[in-house]
Amino acid sequence: MDRRLSIITPFFNEGRGVEIFSREIDRIVDDLAGYDVEIVWIDDGSTDDTLSHLLAISAGKPRHTVVELSTNFGKEAALTAGLDVASGDAVIPIDADLQDPPDLIPAMVAAWEAGAEVVLAKRSSRASDSAVKRKTAQWFYRVHNQLSRTKIPENVGDFRLMDRTVVDAVKRLPERQRFMKGLFAWVGYRTVTIEYVRPPRHAGKTKFSGWKLWNLALEGLTGFSTAPLRVWTYIGLLGAAVAMCFALYILVRTLLFGIDTPGYASLLIAIVLFGSLQLVSIGIIGEYVGRIYTETKQRPNYLVRRIHRGAA
Ligand code: UDP
Ligand code: MG
Repeated sequence: MDRRLSIITPFFNEGRGVEIFSREIDRIVDDLAGYDVEIVWIDDGSTDDTLSHLLAISAGKPRHTVVELSTNFGKEAALTAGLDVASGDAVIPIDADLQDPPDLIPAMVAAWEAGAEVVLAKRSSRASDSAVKRKTAQWFYRVHNQLSRTKIPENVGDFRLMDRTVVDAVKRLPERQRFMKGLFAWVGYRTVTIEYVRPPRHAGKTKFSGWKLWNLALEGLTGFSTAPLRVWTYIGLLGAAVAMCFALYILVRTLLFGIDTPGYASLLIAIVLFGSLQLVSIGIIGEYVGRIYTETKQRPNYLVRRIHRGAA
C-alpha cells in the first residue's frame, strides 16, 4: 500500500491567497506519484471569505479535509488541530502564504525515505525580513538557547516533515501553551536539515505584529526554562553582598570621622533601583503564575465547528 502523507495548513484571513496556494500544492502533489496524499486545511476562525474559498476549492476532492474552528485560536492551536486530524505516515505543516515553498516537499519526502524522522526546512537567508525582525529573531534564538536545555534550531519555522512517531510524540505533550517550535524541538528524533531561501509573502499581510512576536518569545522562554525565575536569587545575593561591604565601610568611616549628613542622592538612587528591581522580579514571577493558571484551567486548545471530509 502507498505510504500516506498529510499536508496541514492553518489559514487565518488569507482571502484570495487561498487559490494561488492551492494551485501550487496541487502541482506538487501531482508530482508525488506513489504516495497517498491527504490535505488538511484548518480555518482558524477567519473573518473574511477564506472559509468559503477553502470549501469551494476542495469540493468533490476526496483527498481534502477542511477543519473549521469555532473562532480564532491562533496559529499554534490551529497547527495542533491539524496534527490531531492528520492521519499520514508523515505530516508536513506548511504556511498558507507560500513563504514556505511547496517545491521543497519532494526533497523532504526523499530525506524521510532515506531514514530521517524529522526533516527541517531552514532559511539560509532572512533577506525577505526587515532588519529589525532579523535582529530580534537572532536575539531570541540566542537568549532562548542559552537559557533552555531544549535548543531551537535557528531560522527554522514550523515548516518541516515529521514522521508518524514524532507526531504521536508531540501529541503526547499535554500543555495548553503550545509554542510549537519548542515542542517540536523538545521531542528530538533523528533530524535532517534542508536549506532554502524564504520568499516574501505572495499576498496579504503578516498576522504577527511586533507585540504578538514578543508574546510568542515569552511563551517560548517561560515554556522551556525556569532560569528567569531563579536568576533573582543570585541578583539578590549579589546586592546583599555589595550592601554589606558598603555598610562596613560606612560604619568604619563614621566611627573614625564622625557623621556627615549629605547622602540624599545615593539614598534615593538605592530606593528607586531596588524598588524597580523588585517590581521586575515580581513581574517575572507573574508571567509564570499566569501560565500555571492557564494550564490548571485545562481548557481545550481549540474547538471545532465542523470537519468537512472530502469537502462534502
Ligand atoms: N495563522 C493562523 N492563525 C493566526 C495567525 C496566522 O492560522 O491567528 C496562519 C496564517 O494564515 C499563515 C500562517 O499562520 O498560514 C503564518 O502566518 P504569517 O504568514 O502571518 O506569519 P509570518 O510568516 O509573518 O511569521
Ligand atoms: Mg508568512
